[in-house]
Amino acid sequence: MNGRKNKHFRVILGLLLGLNTLMAAAQTPAFPQRCGIVFREQTLESRDPRRSEKRRLLNEKIESYIRTQSEQAPSARVGEVVYRIPVVVHVVHSNSSGFIGGTGNSNISDEQIASQIRVLNEDYRRMANTRGFNTNPIGADTGIEFYLARTDPDGSTSNGITRHYYPQRSSFDVYNASSGDDLLLSQIAYWPSDRYLNIWVTTLRNDYLGYSQFPAAENYDGLNPTENELTDGVIIDYRYFGSEIGAVTSPTYRYGRTTTHEVGHWLGLIHTWGDDVCGNDYCNDTPPTEGPNQTTECPEKFSNCNGVRTRNQIENYLDYTPDACMNLFTQDQKARMRAVIEVSPRRQRVVKSSEPLPQTEKLTVNVFPNPAQSQTTLEVLFTGFQSFLVQVTDLAGRIVKTQRYTDSPSSSITIPLSTLQNGYYIVKVSTDKETTARRLLVY
Ligand SMILES: [Zn+2]
Repeated sequence: MNGRKNKHFRVILGLLLGLNTLMAAAQTPAFPQRCGIVFREQTLESRDPRRSEKRRLLNEKIESYIRTQSEQAPSARVGEVVYRIPVVVHVVHSNSSGFIGGTGNSNISDEQIASQIRVLNEDYRRMANTRGFNTNPIGADTGIEFYLARTDPDGSTSNGITRHYYPQRSSFDVYNASSGDDLLLSQIAYWPSDRYLNIWVTTLRNDYLGYSQFPAAENYDGLNPTENELTDGVIIDYRYFGSEIGAVTSPTYRYGRTTTHEVGHWLGLIHTWGDDVCGNDYCNDTPPTEGPNQTTECPEKFSNCNGVRTRNQIENYLDYTPDACMNLFTQDQKARMRAVIEVSPRRQRVVKSSEPLPQTEKLTVNVFPNPAQSQTTLEVLFTGFQSFLVQVTDLAGRIVKTQRYTDSPSSSITIPLSTLQNGYYIVKVSTDKETTARRLLVY
């Protein structure tokens, strides 16, 4: 929700909520807390007194970017380029046997890691016939994809997984601000955070499933990396990384949604309750919510915010509900994550350093699926970076969608079709030198 309230009132409520959370943690909850980002941010703020001010500035940029975007009529645009994010998974374990995989083994298998990357793509792309699909009218395919990096920072071939036997520690405590365990993890393994999404998978203490780091507004200075850069990524307990495989045995958190949630924070999303009683998450299509729904099943829950009773969006990935309840990113959450990729310099660089789609000597245009129902993918392949124009026309020659893409590599573009009537259309792509057209059937 996106609301304004008396500031003092909010501060007091925030303190009370924080106190409650602290007390709950001190009493050792019956099951782990889903997410430790609030405490993680406190650690980062204690290291950098300007951090909250920087986050506020980034938020202004995000909001302003979203306003500019929404001034254009979305139905007249062709569609959005799919962002692809290279991921490196650092497995930090204390298992001296060298044995990989299995229940209770923090040296998790490649298959367990692959299952997590699959879940990320199912959830962020709202893929049909997977747990990440929903028919919610405000549900979004975010157009963001993830893949295990195929080259390391030196350019050598890699499978995007690094393994580190670290016998000095059987577990890590990111919760404790003074311990600095996030910096320790970064010392054990780190790839530049402006080229990769770093995911550290290890054993966590203090009953948190995972932690994340919000994006930053400052420019990247490769020569003098700040602590903030070195710890930029996601930290997940090995027992909740992946879906129903290997070390993932929790009945409540077994479908890999801990990482879906934490990567949401890494892309700038805030919890649905705005980390406050009826707080602000800067998304209008997530209803106002009193607090987290940390449950073991998926019961309907309601909030009373500003005198209005609303249903809590327990299916939202940014809630605390069990993995089985979740299947939703909203349209506004999608807009926010995509804005973060455009306005946060480090996130922008990660996307730009993703492996480009194949380059072709001649302009090549693929449309799939075709025939298509609610959306289709347009693949535009050529050499190097070029500007190109996409026009979708009906058989009478009327332009129904048009959009210009500037200085892009070979790209994949998602075209929503729900505003189009059934029938044949022509998708025409023109670069400065070439034009190619494909026929598309919408049914
Ligand atoms: Zn969270």
